[in-house]
Amino acid sequence: MDRMTYFDHAATTPVAPEVREAMVPYFSEKYGNSATLYELGGESRQALEDARASLAALLGARPEEVFFTSGGTESDNWALKGVGCVSCACAGGKGSRPHIITSTAEHHAVIEPCKFLETIGAEVTYVPVDRHGRVDPADVRKALRPNTKLVSVMHANNEVGTVNPVREIADVAHAAGALFHTDAVQSVGKLKFTVAELGADLLSLSAHKFHGPKGVGALYIRKGVKLNPFMHGGGQERGRRAGTSNVAGIVGLGAAAKIAMTERDAETRRISALADRVRSGLTGRLEAFEFVGHPSERLPGLVTMLVAGIEGEAMVLALDAEGIATASGSACTSGSLDPSHVLLAMGIPAERAHGSLRLSFGRASTEEEVDRFLEVFPPIVDRLRKMSPTWKG
Ligand code: PLP
Repeated sequence: MDRMTYFDHAATTPVAPEVREAMVPYFSEKYGNSATLYELGGESRQALEDARASLAALLGARPEEVFFTSGGTESDNWALKGVGCVSCACAGGKGSRPHIITSTAEHHAVIEPCKFLETIGAEVTYVPVDRHGRVDPADVRKALRPNTKLVSVMHANNEVGTVNPVREIADVAHAAGALFHTDAVQSVGKLKFTVAELGADLLSLSAHKFHGPKGVGALYIRKGVKLNPFMHGGGQERGRRAGTSNVAGIVGLGAAAKIAMTERDAETRRISALADRVRSGLTGRLEAFEFVGHPSERLPGLVTMLVAGIEGEAMVLALDAEGIATASGSACTSGSLDPSHVLLAMGIPAERAHGSLRLSFGRASTEEEVDRFLEVFPPIVDRLRKMSPTWKG
């Protein structure tokens, strides 16, 4: 095995060499705290603002609408709790119960804060998704209530790659006077859009999903949107997100945004072709097998399949033995034997949901690697099925 084949870019991506290079000085000679007055701090401050400008350009936002966070999870928590807590009794607020609408196929970084908000008095409606994992804007409209403060629907799903009609959902939210948040952690750097095109008032993103470092992300907050701070402390991020800024990480996020600006469209075409190669390479070669996710409204470079009669984890381990890293269900829930809540929400029975495998491609993925996968995967399926007590083929 020469080198590992990495087909799990939806879980995380390797830091691009250009990103690493941009970050290094901020771990060494440029170590200043960006909140200080002397020159060393000024250099860090300038680096933060340059990164903010690069990220704003990628999103079609104004720099002052970009707030750095520790990643997608914090951004989602901030958006939901920042709105959901505003008027709930626990915030010492007006005692009215805020209502939030989200979907059953969201990432745990959205679902869990919603569950938390329910425990402190908010009301949450979880609208369903269709068999492709898409939210119907009509269901959001039906769920609206006079106290609906926020609609939060992800842009692209991390498990099946389905892209939601977020603009239509945003229009429904706005017509009712609610804010619209979208978790765009999987789509930023991969799909071409601006925050205005999506109709987003709040948008979450994370650097490590598009060749930036882990532990850094951002929340876009449209100018004029009132949002309670989530982190209280110092006055960083113009008083809205306290904590000494992660300068090196933010520089890395800015560098990743710059790469995405120049390479995204060509990369999208390239990794879409890799995904199509997997789809056509496996079609007709395996029985009791299907691809899931929307047939056209989907992320480039992500393929999710269901293989009857075997566990996803068994496929992941067998492929790992061949030097190919893949995923089953969501990486964040690995270690749990529960089938993916996204697949269940799509109406897939639990026993079929157990047999899911996700491949997700990135900058370094090649046709040769895909061809090797196509060579080793069908025999792995045959072998695992021979050992499977549930396979009746
Ligand atoms: N939202 C989605 C859709 C994701 O895929 C992820 C990461 O898996 C997150 C949120 C969490 O982001 P982070 O890992 O930066 O906390």
